[in-house]
Amino acid sequence: MRFADVVGHEALGAKLRDAVRSSRVAHAQLFDGREGSGALALARAYAQFLTCQNPSESDSCGVCTSCKAHANLQHPDLHWCFPFFKADGQEKATSDSHQGMWREAMLEGSYLGVEDWLERLGADRKQLFISVDEALEVSRKLGLKSFYGGWKVWICWLPETMRVDTANKFLKLVEEPTDKTVLLFVSEHPDRLLATIRSRVQRVHVPDLGIEESAAGLVRLAHVSPEIAQGLAHSSDGNLALALRLAKLGTDQPDLERFADWMRACWSRDGQAMVEGSEAFGSLGRESQKRFLHYALHLVRQSIVGHYGAADLVRLTKAEAAFLDKFSRFIHHDNVKSLRDALEEAHADVAGNVNGKLVFVDLSLRVHHLLRVPASQD
Ligand SMILES: [Zn+2]
Repeated sequence: MRFADVVGHEALGAKLRDAVRSSRVAHAQLFDGREGSGALALARAYAQFLTCQNPSESDSCGVCTSCKAHANLQHPDLHWCFPFFKADGQEKATSDSHQGMWREAMLEGSYLGVEDWLERLGADRKQLFISVDEALEVSRKLGLKSFYGGWKVWICWLPETMRVDTANKFLKLVEEPTDKTVLLFVSEHPDRLLATIRSRVQRVHVPDLGIEESAAGLVRLAHVSPEIAQGLAHSSDGNLALALRLAKLGTDQPDLERFADWMRACWSRDGQAMVEGSEAFGSLGRESQKRFLHYALHLVRQSIVGHYGAADLVRLTKAEAAFLDKFSRFIHHDNVKSLRDALEEAHADVAGNVNGKLVFVDLSLRVHHLLRVPASQD
C-alpha cells in the first residue's frame, strides 16, 4: 500500500516520510485513530515506504522487489499481529492459523473494522485477544535477521486487546529493541493500553476523516456514485470502515423507507404494522439489524441538530432531509435522550444475540411512548 492509496491525511503522510528521510525513525510508534480513520492504512503505507528500495520524495516506488512483496502481503520483513481466538485443539495460541485470513482481509483493503474481522473469523468480540504465546513468537521472529537487509517492521492492530501479561512481554520488546526494527501499534483505544507502553512510544494521532474525504474515498474504493457516497459518508459519520461495510450491503435508501414506515407505525401504535415490522426486522441478519439501529440513531440525532439551526452539522441526503423536515417536530429535548438510550440498548441487545424480533417489539413500544411525550414550553 502506497501513501497515494491512503484516503486523506496528506500532511501526516508527509511528516512520516520526512522522519524517514532525516533518519529520525522512532523505534516504537503508536498510530491512534478511531475505526475508519485510516490509521492502519497509514501504518501500511509507512511500512512500505520504510522498506522501499527506491522511494521518491512523495511515496514508495511501487515497483521494487520490496514494494511488490508488500502489495502481495508477502514481505518477509513485515510481521503482523492482530487479535484472534484460540481454536479448539490448538496447542499454542498463536495467530499462525489466522494469518491466511488476515492476508485476505488486507488484500481487500486497509479499512477494516472490528465487526468485519469478527465476521471473517466467525468469532465473537469476547473471544478476541492477543496471547502471550503470540508475544513470544513475535520476539522470536523479530530476533531474526532482516531478509532484505533493511528495516523489519511489525504492525500490531488493536493492541488494546492484549491482556496485561501479554502487554508486559511486548513492553520488553519496546524497551529492548532488536536491531533495525520498527514497532507500529495501531490502536482505536490507546487509553486501554498499558501506561508503560504508552509512555514509551511515539504517538502519531490519526484524526477522523471529514465527510467529503470519506465520500471521495468511498467513490474510489467501493465504486459507488458520488451521491450514494455522500449519503453513506454522512450516516457513518466519516467512519470509512463502516461506510464500506454499508456500501457492501447496499445503499442506505431502503433503511430510510424502513425507518419512516416504522416511525409511522410507532406514532399511531398501529399493532399490525408494528408486528410486521418486527418480523421483517427479525429476519434480517444480525449485522443488518445493528446497521439499521445505527442508522435510526443517526436520524434521531440529526432531527435534534436541525432544531438548533446548526446547518453545518446537518449530514443528510436529500431524501432524508425531506423526511426529517416533517419528522423532526416529534423529536425534542424532552424525549431525545430517552430515544437515544432506547436505540442504544436495542443495539447492545442485538449485539448480545438477543432475539431480533423481541428486541424490536419492545423497542417499538418504548418508541411509541417516547414519541407521545409532549415538549415542555420553555
Ligand atoms: Zn519500492
